[in-house]
Amino acid sequence: MCALYGGIEAGGTKFVCAIGSGPHDLRDIKRIPTTTPSETIGQVIEFFKGHGTIAAVGIAAFGPVDLDTKSPTFGYITSTPKPGWAFTDLAGLVGRALKVHVGFDTDVNGAALGEHRWGAAQDLNDFIYLTIGTGIGGGAMVNGKLAHGLIHPEMGHIRLPHDLQADPYKGHCPFHGDCFEGLANGPAMQERWGQPAETLPADHPAWALEARYIAFALQNYICTLSPQKLILGGGVMEQPQLFGMVRQNVQQMLNEYVSAKQILKDIDNYIVPPKLGKQAGVLGAIALAIHAHRTI
Ligand code: ADP
Ligand code: ZN
Repeated sequence: MCALYGGIEAGGTKFVCAIGSGPHDLRDIKRIPTTTPSETIGQVIEFFKGHGTIAAVGIAAFGPVDLDTKSPTFGYITSTPKPGWAFTDLAGLVGRALKVHVGFDTDVNGAALGEHRWGAAQDLNDFIYLTIGTGIGGGAMVNGKLAHGLIHPEMGHIRLPHDLQADPYKGHCPFHGDCFEGLANGPAMQERWGQPAETLPADHPAWALEARYIAFALQNYICTLSPQKLILGGGVMEQPQLFGMVRQNVQQMLNEYVSAKQILKDIDNYIVPPKLGKQAGVLGAIALAIHAHRTI
């Protein structure tokens, strides 16, 4: 029998916990609302204690998080503005209570690892997983390893050209105003257009603007990291018309300068949705657990 792992997708509104070993072996999934750390983490621990032996647990968490194994606050959610959650020892509390090894990373790095193991990025060494939802964040695999660096990438907070005449909206990011996240996350769309993104019709000008911002960001990532694929997930990307518009904008903006056939001739397979769909997050957490178990 193959080993069982625990996965925790730790999000700002809910924690999704699962037991299993991969997409075809997910035995139990539970959604726990994100309230206070003691209540939420208590319920997470209770869920896993109700199951048999688990080889390791993976946590893919909202951030910012401390991923430096030498740091005294390794495994913590650090300076989050989310009330009550700043400097919470998430990995430590879970690991000590369950007496298991914990793999810990950002939510988007987890999702990237899941897509690498089972999804759209199998056999690739260099790719990006980007989510566009309540926030915007990216996980990058570079030379076969997830990029961590100084802290971890914050791909949602890059600066983009902002034509204030075409789009006078000031931006939604509390730190930077009109960074990529501030201009293009779900709440920015809602504030700019006065209604939730999911209620805007497919031919609304909101989508052309959104596609343009996403394409600017992708051009920056393509020219900086040279990814072999870009996987775009999150609620906003559930708009089917958006993928085609983003692909077209990317081709136009790059202007054939990056002369890879994947971009020039086969962009439908270069900018893609996650193959693991809505389960990319929790499967990413299980992938982190497997990775942690193998590297003990
Ligand atoms: P989270 O980022 O909180 O984990 P999501 O990725 O679902 O969750 O993102 C939620 C955001 O995405 C909200 O701002 C919402 O308005 C927007 N959203 C959700 N579904 C859709 C949809 N089908 N089309 C466009 N926007 C959507
Ligand atoms: Zn920002």
